[in-house]
Amino acid sequence: MQVDNATFQERMARFHEVCRGRGLRITAQRLEVFSALARCTDHPSAETLYRRVHKRVPGITLDTVYRTMEKLEEVGLVLRVSVVGNRMRFEANLDRHHHFVCRGCGVILDVYSAELDQLRLPEKLSAGYVVERSQVELRGVCPRCAEASGQVKG
Ligand SMILES: [Zn+2]
Ligand SMILES: [Zn+2]
Repeated sequence: MQVDNATFQERMARFHEVCRGRGLRITAQRLEVFSALARCTDHPSAETLYRRVHKRVPGITLDTVYRTMEKLEEVGLVLRVSVVGNRMRFEANLDRHHHFVCRGCGVILDVYSAELDQLRLPEKLSAGYVVERSQVELRGVCPRCAEASGQVKG
């Protein structure tokens, strides 16, 4: 599950631009960890990212991956997605979208939907509250897991 090359290049260009702008050093480790995240669509955990990069980046530790995610989140290049099980998941997709989370295998799919983008605020929040961001998280079972458990509809 990989993004197309144009999207990947766009994310890498933003990475370089933001790091330069924020005076964040582009170390080989940061570059590798971010590339691995920018390339994929599955919203990996830090553990998964670590498994993907550790062969290419000798000496990298899981802790480095965590700290890299924290730093990149701080400068707005990475978003924390959701907790599945007890693992925090990350993504580099900053475009407006929503998520489907499978409770079986833990896959997180990006969902683009104009209807979900335009959800109306409940009355209760109309006075005094400023909503800056909203994202719908749909939880359920993906087709593969539904089939595996003999469950046709969740
Ligand atoms: Zn699943
Ligand atoms: Zn996403």
